[in-house]
Amino acid sequence: MPLRTREEFIQSIADLDLQIYMFGEKIDDYVDHPVIRPSLNCIAMTYELAQQPEYQDIMLATSHLTGNKINRFTHIHQSTEDLIKKVKMLRLLGQKTGSCFQRCVGMDALNALWSVTYECDEAKGTDYHERFTRYVQYLQENDLVADGAMTDPKGDRSLPPHQQPDPDVYVHVVERRDDGIVVRGAKAHQTGACNSHEVVVMPTIAMREGDEDFAVSFACPANADGIYYIYGRQSCDTRKLEGNDLDIGNANYGGQEALMVFDDVFIPWEHVFLCGEVEFASPLVERFAGYHRSSYGGCKVGVGDVLIGAASVAAEMNGVAKASHIKDKVVEMTHLNETMFACGIACSAEGVRMPAGNYQIDLLLANITKQNVTRFPYEIARLAEDIAGGLMVTMPSAQDLADEKIGPIVEKYLTGQCDTPTIDRMRILRLVENLTLGTAAVGYRTESMHGAGSPQAQRIMIARQSNLDHKKELAKALAGVGTPWQKEKLKTPAASADA
Ligand code: SF4
Ligand code: FE
Repeated sequence: MPLRTREEFIQSIADLDLQIYMFGEKIDDYVDHPVIRPSLNCIAMTYELAQQPEYQDIMLATSHLTGNKINRFTHIHQSTEDLIKKVKMLRLLGQKTGSCFQRCVGMDALNALWSVTYECDEAKGTDYHERFTRYVQYLQENDLVADGAMTDPKGDRSLPPHQQPDPDVYVHVVERRDDGIVVRGAKAHQTGACNSHEVVVMPTIAMREGDEDFAVSFACPANADGIYYIYGRQSCDTRKLEGNDLDIGNANYGGQEALMVFDDVFIPWEHVFLCGEVEFASPLVERFAGYHRSSYGGCKVGVGDVLIGAASVAAEMNGVAKASHIKDKVVEMTHLNETMFACGIACSAEGVRMPAGNYQIDLLLANITKQNVTRFPYEIARLAEDIAGGLMVTMPSAQDLADEKIGPIVEKYLTGQCDTPTIDRMRILRLVENLTLGTAAVGYRTESMHGAGSPQAQRIMIARQSNLDHKKELAKALAGVGTPWQKEKLKTPAASADA
């Protein structure tokens, strides 16, 4: 099948007849639901840009399985150049949507599973990699979106999966049959789950003996029997139900998170990629997290570009763009944003070839990337709010502006720089509000903190990857630690001067 168009993608999601619940109700016409549609538009952008010649160098890749041109979101990275192009692609999409465009989670899951299934087969004589290769080719040839599902609800964090009072807080195998397995549980805050054709499930933490039923990875259609979705709320989401675009700030685009429930779902063996091999849960988690942490060095930077632009336009509309402290704040925002990008590029350029033949980002630098992302967007958002001014959260509504009597009053008192139409000033301030406090803040702020793992998860990986012993050896060598002290050569400064 050739690459899908934007319209074909949206229709294909509508055809799935997904089981989605929101505000206590089942949503049937979900692709046109005003809360959901902006998130669908975001993924649709990954199809739209792939059709445009000027973007095809970064949006498309050549499949190593078929030699065909495919959307990069279904690609298994074959070089460091591929890894770098991925980061650039994500920055571009962040710029075009000002939001989380969701498709990266599946791409990162596929790349992590590629090497882990290979290594599991080498070690245990399983045949997961062959099955997985067929599955990847199916996704590539049909230009599908796969939702990468890792995060379990986790219940009591002090207990391993097999000791949880309710084992369903981790996705697990409840039945093994000749033809496949039956799984039960849930995956929490699943990005883009209701906009995906397929679900690729992975374990969420390192596992140990006793956790065999929980060390499971598999794929299934997003509309498989027994799967349903409970849509996650976002700050200010009901503004999307008001029928006006002005107060939303970024009316056409937005992110999506959902609670995905597996209510005894049957998975044929052909789509099982790990089942009981507890020692491979940890590398799978680390590699997926590493890939996704590197992705943040692209997507959040693209959204940061939009926010820096919005703050600068707001400053112009307020008539303060030439003030030196405003210029300096814009420089600071740019410095922070480009630092995250530099990290994303660096961990890609330092990527390594895996035994399975694919390329993986440098894990230490990927974790450094994400650690910076847990901080810098907050500072960029703080500076944007500083520049925009308080009006971005105190403005009257679109309905007030439209009112015959009070509309002209709103217009008169919200005027900024003389030739700026008031409505445009309101639009740009609402965009800053959307990115820092509204629906997009889920993707730009909280997701920067917790997406792809909370800050402490990166610090654990940084400690593990930092090769501290090597650094200590460097210091000891230069200081001469452990070498005999030749004190007979000791001279006082005066004595050596006399000599
Ligand atoms: Fe992609 Fe970024 Fe959203 Fe993750 S947070 S799915 S990397 S856009
Ligand atoms: Fe994310």
